[in-house]
Amino acid sequence: MASVKIDITEDTLLVGIAASPGIAISKSRLVNRSQLGAIERRISDSEVEAELAAFRAAVECSRQQLIQIKQQAKDKVLAEHLYIIDTHLLILDDDMLIGESEALIAGEKINAEGAFNRTLRKLRRAFDNISDEYIRERRSDIDSIGDRVMRNLLGEIRETFDNLDSQVIVVAHDLSPGDTVQMDKEKVVGFVTDVGGRTSHTAILARSLGIPAVVGLETVTSIVPDDLPMIIDGTNGTVILKPSAETFRKYLEKKQRYEYLEKELEAFRQLPAETLDGYRLVLRGNVDFADEVENARLLGAEGIGLFRTEFLFMTGEDPPSEEEQFNIYRRAVELMAPYPVTIRTLDVGGEKFVPEFNLSDEANPVMGLRAIRFSLKEVNLFRTQLRAILRASAFGQIRIMFPMISGVAEMRSCKQFLDKARQELANEGVAVAENVDVGVMIETPAAVLVSDLLAKEVDFFSVGTNDLIQYCLAIDRSNEHVAYLYEPMHPAVLRALRLICDAAKTEGIEVGMCGEMAGEQLYSLVLIALGFNELSMNPVNISRIKRVMRQVDMGEVKGLLEKMLTLSTATDVATCLESEMAEKFPEVFNLELL
Ligand code: PEP
Ligand code: MG
Repeated sequence: MASVKIDITEDTLLVGIAASPGIAISKSRLVNRSQLGAIERRISDSEVEAELAAFRAAVECSRQQLIQIKQQAKDKVLAEHLYIIDTHLLILDDDMLIGESEALIAGEKINAEGAFNRTLRKLRRAFDNISDEYIRERRSDIDSIGDRVMRNLLGEIRETFDNLDSQVIVVAHDLSPGDTVQMDKEKVVGFVTDVGGRTSHTAILARSLGIPAVVGLETVTSIVPDDLPMIIDGTNGTVILKPSAETFRKYLEKKQRYEYLEKELEAFRQLPAETLDGYRLVLRGNVDFADEVENARLLGAEGIGLFRTEFLFMTGEDPPSEEEQFNIYRRAVELMAPYPVTIRTLDVGGEKFVPEFNLSDEANPVMGLRAIRFSLKEVNLFRTQLRAILRASAFGQIRIMFPMISGVAEMRSCKQFLDKARQELANEGVAVAENVDVGVMIETPAAVLVSDLLAKEVDFFSVGTNDLIQYCLAIDRSNEHVAYLYEPMHPAVLRALRLICDAAKTEGIEVGMCGEMAGEQLYSLVLIALGFNELSMNPVNISRIKRVMRQVDMGEVKGLLEKMLTLSTATDVATCLESEMAEKFPEVFNLELL
C-alpha cells in the first residue's frame, strides 16, 4: 500500500493495541507487505499443466524458504518458537489451502494466482467468523503463508530484515512470525502494524524477544512515510509521530526506567512466589503446544496450569490420533518434570473453529455446542483424547480438566468416560499413573452457583475468567460495542470469585485461575487475598507477578479486598485497587511514570 502523504504535525498520537511492552525511539522503516493484488483469469485446457506446475513450484519454494529460516533461527534465542515455522510448514501441506487451489486450477480452469487467492479468501472468511479472539488471530498464520506463496508465485522477492544498516522501527501492514524470527534485535528496535491483536503469534514472539510492539493501528502504513522519527510505547499501545524535543526527553527517561525495571525482573524468575509473611502461591504457565513448555520453565513456571489442546486439532487435516496426542502430552510432561502439566480436554465448537469438524452454523455459538458439550457428543474423539492423556500420565505428573462445565451431572459424565478409558487401558495392560488429579474449569455462572457441589466431585478448580466474565456479565467478549462492559472488577465477578474460593476451601481442594486475569499484576494481590493457590498465565508474566507478591503481606492485601467488597460499582472497585497499587508500586502502576 503506498503511503498517503498527510501532514504529520509534531507529537501526532496514534492509539492501537499494546502487543509487547517497552519503549522504542527511532526512525520508521516502511515495509510494503499489504495485500498483494492477484489477477484472476480463465485459462484454456492447454494452460492447466503449466499453471499447476507454477503453483507447485511456488509452494515448494516457500517450503524451502521456511526450512532456511528455521535453520538460521536455530542459533538465536528463538529456537523454542520454531513450532511456528512448523505450523506454517504444515499449512503448506494442508489440503484446504493447497489441494483446493489445485482443484480450482484443474477443475474450474482458473489461473494459479487467481485460484490461490480464491482459496485464501474462503479460508480467511471462515476465520473471520470466529468470535474467539485467540483463534481468530490464527488467521494471521494463513495470511502469512498466503503472502509468501503469492509472492513466490508472482516472482516478488521478499524483503528481509537482515540487511538493515541502522536501527529502525518497522511499520508494516502485518508481519509474519517468520519475519519476526528473522529480526535482528540490534536493528529492529520495535514494530507497529495495521492489523493483529495481543494474542497473535507475532505478538507472542515480540514479547519473547523483548521487542516493543503496537498492533491493530488499522491505517499506520498509510500514514507513516519512511524515515520518520517516531516513538512507540508498547506498554500503553501508543505511537507518537514526529516527537517534539520535550516528548523525546520524556520518553527517553521512560525507556531507561523500563529497561532498568526489566533487568531487575530477571532476578525474580526462579524465586518463590511468596508474600513477606510467607504465603506461597504456585505460578504456572499457559501453553498451546508442547514446544512452549521448556520456555515456560525457564521463565519460572512451576508446572503448566493450562494446556489448550484445541490447537493440536487445528494444524492438520484429520484430528490427531491417540498415538500422536500421546507423544505430544508425554513430551510436555517429560519437559516439565517434576512439576505437573494440566491438560484441558478439547475446547472447540461455537467460537472455536476447527474446519474438519463440520460444525453446523449456530445462531448463538458461544452458548452452543462447544467445549465439553462437543466432547460428550463426539464420544470417539473424547475417548481418544482421554486415553492419550492417561497413557502420558505414566511418564510424569498429569492433571486433567474439563472446560465449560455447567453442573454436577456433566462432571460425572466426564469422570465416567475417564474411568472407562482407564479400565480399557488396564485391560490392555497399558501403564497409567495411579493418581491423575481431575479438575473442573469454572467458566459458567451455573458452575459458580454449584461450586460447593462441584468441589465434592473433583480434586481442583481452575477459573477461566475469559469466559466466566463474559457469561457472568452477559457480554460477548469479542464484541467491541460492549467491550467497555468487560470489567474484571465488577462486584458480580468479585463475588463469584469469592464464592468459588470459599467452596474450594470448605472442601479442602486446590483453587487456581488460568484466564488472562491471572497474569495481570493489577489483580494478583486481590486474587491471593481471595485465597487462590495457583495462578496460570502467559509465562512472560510470571516474574512480574512474583515481584509484586514478594513486596506485600497477606494481612495488608486482605484489608484491601475487604474494602473492595464493600463498593457497589465496577469503577469504584477498580479505582480503589488502582490507587492502592499505584501508591504501593509507583514504579509499576503509576501510569504517569510508566
Ligand atoms: C478462559 O475462559 O478463561 C480460559 C482460560 O479458556 P479460553 O480462553 O481458552 O476460553
Ligand atoms: Mg474458556
